Amino acid sequence: MERIDGHTLLIGLMAYPIRHSMSPTMHNHAFAKLGLNYAYLAFEIDNEKLEKAVDAIRTLDMRGSNVSMPNKQKILPYLDKLSPASEMTGAVNTIVNDNGVLTGYTTDGTGFMKSLEDEGLNIIGKKMTLAGAGGAGTPIAIQAALDGVAEIAIFNRENDPQWEQAKKNVEIINEKTDCKATLHRLEDQEDFKQAIADCDIYCDATGVGMKPLEDMSLVNDPSWFHKDMIVYDTVYAPRETKLMKVAKEAGVEHVFNGLGMMLEQGAEAFKLWTGEDMPVDYIRELLF
Ligand code: NAD
Repeated sequence: MERIDGHTLLIGLMAYPIRHSMSPTMHNHAFAKLGLNYAYLAFEIDNEKLEKAVDAIRTLDMRGSNVSMPNKQKILPYLDKLSPASEMTGAVNTIVNDNGVLTGYTTDGTGFMKSLEDEGLNIIGKKMTLAGAGGAGTPIAIQAALDGVAEIAIFNRENDPQWEQAKKNVEIINEKTDCKATLHRLEDQEDFKQAIADCDIYCDATGVGMKPLEDMSLVNDPSWFHKDMIVYDTVYAPRETKLMKVAKEAGVEHVFNGLGMMLEQGAEAFKLWTGEDMPVDYIRELLF
């Protein structure tokens, strides 16, 4: 309470639904720990209210905002500038307001890569198999390619609206980076199994394993995995998904949920707004 005064700068989170989010707790604890005069609040904003909400960032001289579904792509036309990664992914999860000029960034991909680094793991020059091409899968694929992952096999359901996005991701990676990306149908189970057998890291960015698809996994047979690979689920509620259980049953040592990515995408946004490093160890201890 002592932090909030006439000088406090507001940072928002614009998404719908959003009341379940851990971000307000994470950022407000971090501001308090460092004695920074910001407050972070969640706002229920859908596509319909989005333009007015973005105007409010300028009108209220807010420092910025996070953006989540369903607004990550829809927000682009309302911003003044985009980071190179946002340009490539067509998505924004963080807005910074510099004297009325709004710049969009995407920190999900860098958050994913940083979370692996935090675990002492390096996937540069390695092979990735990735399921999903939505709000999480797209920035993960693009950032992994930009950072130097050698090959990415992207799987998506063919009869799904995100199939076109998966195609786009493959094209843009092959055109703009040295990574070799390939597009695969999730329906082709033999191909999927082979790609997992051949890769160093399998990442599921589909949300299968989270409500309402709890207790489901795209991989159910532990023999598809090998012990020395990484298995990463972007889901963090529940903390241990069906996919993670199957991977552990296979004896895979490096099995992760999406909490590390959540923390690190937040830490990068925190740095963009405040110029300070988020005390990530403190936050990890406190919340996870
Ligand atoms: P999205 O709706 O944008 O994309 C979902 C993707 O999964 C699409 O490619 C879709 O084709 C595919 N898909 C959906 N249902 C499927 C099914 N039953 N079988 C196979 N494929 C299916 O969603 P999103 O924003 O990319 O979120 C995906 C997951 O990532 C969610 O669980 C979300 O919570 C998580 N996420 C985590 C973080 C983090 O920081 N850890 C950040 C963003 C998203």
